[in-house]
Amino acid sequence: MNEALLERLREIVGPTHVLTGDSVRSRHPGFFMKEIGADAIVRPATTADVSRVLSLCNEVGQAVVVHGGLSGWVRATQTRAGEIALSLERMNVIEQVDTKNRTAIVQAGVVLSTFQDHVEQLGLSFPLDLGGRGSCQLGGNAATNAGGMRVIRYGMMREQILGLEAVLADGRVISSLNPVIKNNTGYDLKQLFIGSEGTLGVITRLALRLRERSTSVNTAIVCADSFEQITSLLRYVDGALGGMLSAFELMDNSFYRVNTGAGRHHPPLSSDKPYYAIIEALGSDQERDAKLFEAALTDAAEKGLFDDAVLARSERERLAIWQIREDLEHVVRDFQPFYAFDVSLTVTNMEEYMGQVRAMLKNTWSDGSIAILGHIGDGNLHIAIGAGGADDREKVEACVYEPLKNFGGSVSAEHGIGLEKKPWLPISRSNVELDLMREMKQMLDPKGILNPGKIFDVMPLETSPAKLPKAVASNRAI
Ligand SMILES: Cc1cc2nc3c(=O)[nH]c(=O)nc-3n(C[C@H](O)[C@H](O)[C@H](O)COP(=O)(O)OP(=O)(O)OC[C@H]3O[C@@H](n4cnc5c(N)ncnc54)[C@H](O)[C@@H]3O)c2cc1C
Repeated sequence: MNEALLERLREIVGPTHVLTGDSVRSRHPGFFMKEIGADAIVRPATTADVSRVLSLCNEVGQAVVVHGGLSGWVRATQTRAGEIALSLERMNVIEQVDTKNRTAIVQAGVVLSTFQDHVEQLGLSFPLDLGGRGSCQLGGNAATNAGGMRVIRYGMMREQILGLEAVLADGRVISSLNPVIKNNTGYDLKQLFIGSEGTLGVITRLALRLRERSTSVNTAIVCADSFEQITSLLRYVDGALGGMLSAFELMDNSFYRVNTGAGRHHPPLSSDKPYYAIIEALGSDQERDAKLFEAALTDAAEKGLFDDAVLARSERERLAIWQIREDLEHVVRDFQPFYAFDVSLTVTNMEEYMGQVRAMLKNTWSDGSIAILGHIGDGNLHIAIGAGGADDREKVEACVYEPLKNFGGSVSAEHGIGLEKKPWLPISRSNVELDLMREMKQMLDPKGILNPGKIFDVMPLETSPAKLPKAVASNRAI
């Protein structure tokens, strides 16, 4: 990389905050990536720094890839030689928590779990919660519109954001740190940046909505013989718990068995049922809520909505139940080569869809492994597959994405598109939608310096169907 440009970057952020060489290569590259390819990592401390960095990069046409906590799964942070990574790690200040108005202003590099813990101590809660909480940043959560375990009750990251500040590709700062819920004053510009995966601007600060801290928690794990029972149970407990249902997580037999095998997590229920679900309710009165929770499950059992259940009687038991769902290490180790998918479709279509995916996979690789889990209340399935060889990625992906077309499903429920799902985006988005996205990208980042090549190519590849996966190429009209 041009040494003169590096020198100008050092002048902006300070000489120790432009990393090069081994200081770049030795860092965690992010999931499913071998190493950070960028020539340099630039670490700004303020919005003004970010603005000056982008203004300079825009002037010389320098590509910039934003790095949050690098916990994403779709290679949206991947960099190549000639690019620079802009890491938000130094912008990690919780600037203000307004307990009266239940809002907070934070810098984008604050780690999710740090923020959760901080507001808990003040008697409040930030309800977004996901397995990557210890490393992902609030800016990354916004840029991916993260979901997680509690979407069923509180919505995705989008619902937690009242306002944000972002730096545009040319260095202009758009400050929309509005702290009120209602604000219908023209276009809601913050929405442009939420879920845009670093392609439209760098999110530098956020105004977030907080909730009251729950003081009761009740958790159970149930098993069922049929998917029909699980979906009926979801509706039933949601109604019976009067708004307290905060998680309803599905695991299929394969996932449950992997995580409760010998020497792994203790199985609270027998391992022979096709489906398992973790149900959790958050409330404000432990004694009263526990009674309501147990009564709801007792009624559900009488109605035949599940076959067996275990209630957590202590925090230790609650965490042990959640470990079975959240521990992904065993499945990653057992399923090789490992592929992870995150799709969404309506609950009514899920069983048929899962059947089609399993059948396609088994037809191609009779010894292939598949495990399904997910935030079923949000219509979101995570699919883990171990099948094929090193060159079979596209064939494995086809088993998951091709059947989605029959159900109008989405190739990404919550993890985003990045590079991983880019070829499959046309399954879920029409040509008109993709054209509009490209026009927005060109308007906000005319030189294409921000996270180039992620989500879609600005110059569409449609004219060359041979470059697309077969399943997509044959489905251009969708
Ligand atoms: C164990 C585990 C479980 C997970 N479970 C879930 C889950 O349940 N639900 C879910 O949604 N995700 C989940 N994830 C994925 C991941 O944690 C989320 O996508 C998270 O929101 C990414 O945040 P990050 O800070 O790590 O972003 P990164 O991975 O660093 O970046 C992701 C994208 O956002 C962009 N970006 C990052 N920061 C900014 C910024 N400040 N401004 C502009 N663009 C930015 C990057 O350029 C990139 O395109 C999980 C990850 C792990 C490791």
